[in-house]
Amino acid sequence: MQVPATFAYERADSVPHALELLERYGPEARVVAGGHSLIPMMKLRLAQPEALIDINGLAGELGRIAVEGDELAIGAMVRHTELLESVTATDLFPIFRDAERVIADPIVRNRGTVGGSLCQGDPSEDLAAVFAALRATAVVQGPGGVRTVPVRRFHQGPYETAVAPNELLIQLRVPVAAGTGSAYEKVERRAGDWPVAAAGAVLRIEGGTIVQAGIGLTAVGAPHFCAPEAETYLEGREPGEEAFAEAGRIAAEGCAPHADQRGPADYKRHLAAELTRRALVRAAGRS
Ligand SMILES: Cc1cc2nc3c(=O)[nH]c(=O)nc-3n(C[C@H](O)[C@H](O)[C@H](O)COP(=O)(O)OP(=O)(O)OC[C@H]3O[C@@H](n4cnc5c(N)ncnc54)[C@H](O)[C@@H]3O)c2cc1C
Repeated sequence: MQVPATFAYERADSVPHALELLERYGPEARVVAGGHSLIPMMKLRLAQPEALIDINGLAGELGRIAVEGDELAIGAMVRHTELLESVTATDLFPIFRDAERVIADPIVRNRGTVGGSLCQGDPSEDLAAVFAALRATAVVQGPGGVRTVPVRRFHQGPYETAVAPNELLIQLRVPVAAGTGSAYEKVERRAGDWPVAAAGAVLRIEGGTIVQAGIGLTAVGAPHFCAPEAETYLEGREPGEEAFAEAGRIAAEGCAPHADQRGPADYKRHLAAELTRRALVRAAGRS
């Protein structure tokens, strides 16, 4: 069945208006951003919202990328292409360029949003690993006001996030610090496909020592898309091939990949180790 069930449609013109509409239609309403995940699910009737609240009218309000104090703020309505083309974001964090180049294809990237990607909560989402590696904070707005959630606690399970049915994700905030390098490595079966496995690395190096490490992993069953044991192993060490290989091994140990059409579990675990190692090497070279 490729035809969605009947639904009401409303177009929000501001964040308060979107929240009011969500309140009015109740928990069976869903917001639609790029629609690249939600609309196919509706066509297959895997999702049957009673009302769609279109938030594309909020692209001005929620579509900014800017450095604010010691954080990079990225609005939830920023499209993949806008993030890929943002010199501000990609100069500070080349991990965005690495990842966005290999997310889907230009048609999806022109429309799909950062917020929609995170709120979809797909266990193979590339940006979930990127923002986990960056230790970003999600800013969520609801009827009670604005609250923040560390991205590492944002995903609560497959397709489940910390955003309540009457709330909106409005922004991601990424801490900016001197001496930080970042990189993303992905293996996909063909160009534009979802990852078989992918790893992001963020390293802050001071005086030849790693003072903070961030490792994000996707499609390999890493809890909360990160690898805290491998990060702890790296902190306080000198960057180097041996340390990065060991961190990759530790990161893979913390994963629980499932066999599927993209490959067997052992292969994905191997990729988790190797891609983590490669991302760390490139991140160190960029710090
Ligand atoms: C062919 C194809 C290939 C793809 N390949 C990849 C890939 O390689 N890697 C990858 O990571 N992704 C991939 N994607 C997914 C793509 O990145 C989508 O754009 C993304 O998953 C959803 O973004 P969206 O803006 O389209 O969200 P939508 O489909 O509009 O929404 C997705 C979900 O998030 C909710 N939502 C959206 N915005 C908000 C908000 N601000 N606050 C609260 N809830 C919100 C919606 O209600 C819905 O439940 C692919 C998609 C397609 C169609």
